[in-house]
Amino acid sequence: MTTEAQEPVTLTPLPETWSTALAVVAHPDDMEFGAAAAVARWTGQGKRVVYCMVTSGEAGIDGMDPDVARGIREAEQVESARLVGVDEVEFLGLPDGVLEYGVPLRREIARVVRRHRPDVVITGNHREAFPNGVPNQADHVATGRAVLDAVRDAGNRWIFRDQVEDEGLEPWGGVEQVWVSGSPTATHVVDVSATFDAGVASLAAHAAYLDGLGWEGFDPAEFLGSMTRPAGQALGVEHATTFEVVRLTWD
Ligand SMILES: [Zn+2]
Repeated sequence: MTTEAQEPVTLTPLPETWSTALAVVAHPDDMEFGAAAAVARWTGQGKRVVYCMVTSGEAGIDGMDPDVARGIREAEQVESARLVGVDEVEFLGLPDGVLEYGVPLRREIARVVRRHRPDVVITGNHREAFPNGVPNQADHVATGRAVLDAVRDAGNRWIFRDQVEDEGLEPWGGVEQVWVSGSPTATHVVDVSATFDAGVASLAAHAAYLDGLGWEGFDPAEFLGSMTRPAGQALGVEHATTFEVVRLTWD
């Protein structure tokens, strides 16, 4: 592990003038490996945050059949979300581990954007590697890329027009930025000193999954702290979490 990528960059605090955010990620636990403490801060400010899981993470536990794991992982995600003030958690039910970037995935995500009409969309890292240089997981790349496109699709009434004409959804072009958690090229930062513990609790809520990983001595507080302390130092606070802001407008 190296934290070199985070050190020399000047990170800007994320704006907090919005009221609704939609987080779309590939798996249960994706929000909890970094972004959840920021979510706790925002829900504490009275903002609405909705979670949408593209899969149920059913292929994530080696010793457990996906038909069993699906329900357990969904329940862990719902509890994990509750611990950071999120009451709305949706599961699209697409197949874990074999997501493909493409029009069908964009269609599903555009529908969610049109239903919730968020100001901000949050997703996971779509880039080739994790911040430590290890190649990223395929579902993360597919989902993150599809989110960037689907946010635009959602604003165009002629794309996925059956949603507009048959399902009664209106186009929604109100998302100007996508915030990418866990990006190796972070641009922005959130002070999560006051909500770090809630973030730790939300990760610990994925107990069956974490057990299944078999990482000996894994400590959610230690793991998350190893990411939030260096970013915090850059901001002059104890804990901070980073995001890459992707702007979707030209100006
Ligand atoms: Zn994941």
